[in-house]
Amino acid sequence: MATKRLQAYQDVLNRVPKNVDLNEKVSELFGKNVFHIEIMREYLPSDAFKSMVESIQNGTRLDRKMADQVASAMKDWAITKGATHYTHWFQPLTGATAEKHDAFFKPIGPGKAIERFDGDLLVQQEPDASSFPNGGIRNTFEARGYTAWDPSSPAFVIGKTLCIPTIFISYTGESLDYKMPLLKALNAIDHTATEICQYFDKNVTKVNATLGWEQEYFLIDQALFNARPDLMMTGRALFGHAAAKGQQLEDHYFGSIPDRITAFMRDFEKESILLGIPVTTRHNEVAPNQFECAPIFEECNLANDHNLLLMDLMEKIARKHDFRLLLHEKPFAGVNGSGKHNNWSLGTNTGVNLLAPGKNPKSNLQFLTFFVNTIKAIHDHADILRACIASAGNDHRLGANEAPPAIISVFIGTQLSNLLDDLEKNIKAGKMTPEDKTELKLNIGKIPQIMLDNTDRNRTSPFAFTGNKFEFRAVGSSANCASAMIVINTIVAKQLKVFKKSVDSRIEKGESKDEAILKELQKLIKESKKIRFEGNGYGEEWVKEAEKRGLNNLKDTPRALKVWGEKDVQQLFDELNILTPRELDARQEIEFDSYILKVQIEARIMGDVVQSMIIPAVIEYQNKLIKNVEGLFHVLGDKAGKEAAKCQIELIQRISIHLNSMKTVADRMLMERKAANKIENIEKKAFAYCDKVKVYFDEIRYHADKLELLVDDELWPLPKFREMLFTR
Ligand code: ADP
Ligand code: MG
Repeated sequence: MATKRLQAYQDVLNRVPKNVDLNEKVSELFGKNVFHIEIMREYLPSDAFKSMVESIQNGTRLDRKMADQVASAMKDWAITKGATHYTHWFQPLTGATAEKHDAFFKPIGPGKAIERFDGDLLVQQEPDASSFPNGGIRNTFEARGYTAWDPSSPAFVIGKTLCIPTIFISYTGESLDYKMPLLKALNAIDHTATEICQYFDKNVTKVNATLGWEQEYFLIDQALFNARPDLMMTGRALFGHAAAKGQQLEDHYFGSIPDRITAFMRDFEKESILLGIPVTTRHNEVAPNQFECAPIFEECNLANDHNLLLMDLMEKIARKHDFRLLLHEKPFAGVNGSGKHNNWSLGTNTGVNLLAPGKNPKSNLQFLTFFVNTIKAIHDHADILRACIASAGNDHRLGANEAPPAIISVFIGTQLSNLLDDLEKNIKAGKMTPEDKTELKLNIGKIPQIMLDNTDRNRTSPFAFTGNKFEFRAVGSSANCASAMIVINTIVAKQLKVFKKSVDSRIEKGESKDEAILKELQKLIKESKKIRFEGNGYGEEWVKEAEKRGLNNLKDTPRALKVWGEKDVQQLFDELNILTPRELDARQEIEFDSYILKVQIEARIMGDVVQSMIIPAVIEYQNKLIKNVEGLFHVLGDKAGKEAAKCQIELIQRISIHLNSMKTVADRMLMERKAANKIENIEKKAFAYCDKVKVYFDEIRYHADKLELLVDDELWPLPKFREMLFTR
């Protein structure tokens, strides 16, 4: 009888690409299923339309009457798109999105029904939320949470459902999601950055943070996926010897995309376009069967909603094409894992990118102000930046020579490094002479407007300046970008606030505005110098150098998560009204818990697969060998038999060695797991899972993977790497 693995493999070989109907032009499809501003103009009375625009742009509240009108228009429009249901779409702290569907249809008597959806239902809802993580904020007896409409992100129709982006809060008003603190952080950066812009241009009244994410993912055939309990339950292969051919040849990168994959991509791109997600690029990544999708950047809140939506779409559409989508940060040892670069910048209502060098010294001074303040923010709050990307999955990636290390540093390129060094040296203490000023202006004027020099892109840095934006590269592929965006926008907002205060006090003391700004920047350049690193972030030397500089290297999730409990961190988030200490404590608890659960499940699956799949297959093969040896002895007699069975006997022994070692270590892990489960304190438990349980994974796997090489291919139960990664 063939193993499940071999049957699955046969399924894969028989597959043909699914047809995707794409007759319409993409430009005609864009945003067709979105209740966007132009649709609102068409469907709303003019006063309601005005209130809506006001609400989108400035976050003002819609009154009840207007909300009713918007709800009614939204419903009418959604029905033309075939919608029968609506849902509040939200982002609980599990990392995924959630929805609860209700029908528009409402019976109002025997044989009678109306389509109902009013302002109340649009603005607020109370999903049964007791099963979402809340970190102790909600007692179960008051397991109520509310979702509340976020008008700044447009509603959309998927299938037969109108989806309304919402925030998710507890009965007591505390945030239980990612969106609420993100909106608050975006508000904080808008406020502080606009104030700074006023130094340079009075016309600036709003600053938007922008986000352009790049989503990496793997696709694996569904049949092979289903034959691997580890992939099914944890999203990563806990076992598996590297394929003879890995990514050494890098021939996959930007290579031609196979037909089945192309069909999948066209399908999900079409769906994304309909939902107004501006996806444009598609290409292979370094690892086999790994791909990337990156849209044009958008306002941060919208961009983040779009990323979550896209992850969801990809998952559904992958299944339609008999694939399974893997968003795990490290599904396959030995080949690259997946990340999600977060490109971040700030844009004004006057159309200026504040992180793009300008045409003249004045706009460059504005650029330098935001540039240097961002670096200082990263310098002061590097640990928070590390903490916001911590997850069990990302632990496998950070510092593994394929993604930036767990040490946070900033790369800015030679040109800007030289410029900052010059500025630091040139500004003299005391009042600046006219010559000083001219020299500085000359220097500042020399920043080239666009720096598209790709050679100056250091791929090993976690936080790199790439010409007109910063790129945060340490974000995990499965993460909600909001986590990183909350932190970056909050810490930069805080830094800008401090900066403004210092500059204002210099001006009060009689310094000119430019001089005050320059001197303050000089101070920041000096103070934040140690976070700047231009060298190879993958090298062992950097780890040593970083230690000398006093930069932290928080290697795993539990160590990184401790940061949320620190007093000054809590103060910072509280001061800017992003998250209260209670909300931060809750988040920390949820993260510890999620870490524990993930490692716990991996440990269990490892134990199961060893016991019920690997050991039986190994024994079956060993029995075959033993039979053969017995046969040889029987036919040839003891002496000649022994001679003839040399290879088999050696194999039997080697198999026994690995089998016993694997089992012994797996048993030890089981004991540690049981001990860890007894720990009540959630932080201690997370540390136990990290330091006492997880440490056995590699050793168990080492022996299992050796056995994979020794056992008859026909008998091996788990699809192999070469099958999963090279079959399409
Ligand atoms: P990489 O070399 O890292 O693959 P790409 O050119 O593929 O870079 O991606 C760059 C990303 O940066 C794109 O997603 C793009 O939308 C985004 N981006 C460009 N400008 C900005 C900006 N001002 N703010 C935020 N993101 C931006
Ligand atoms: Mg990138």
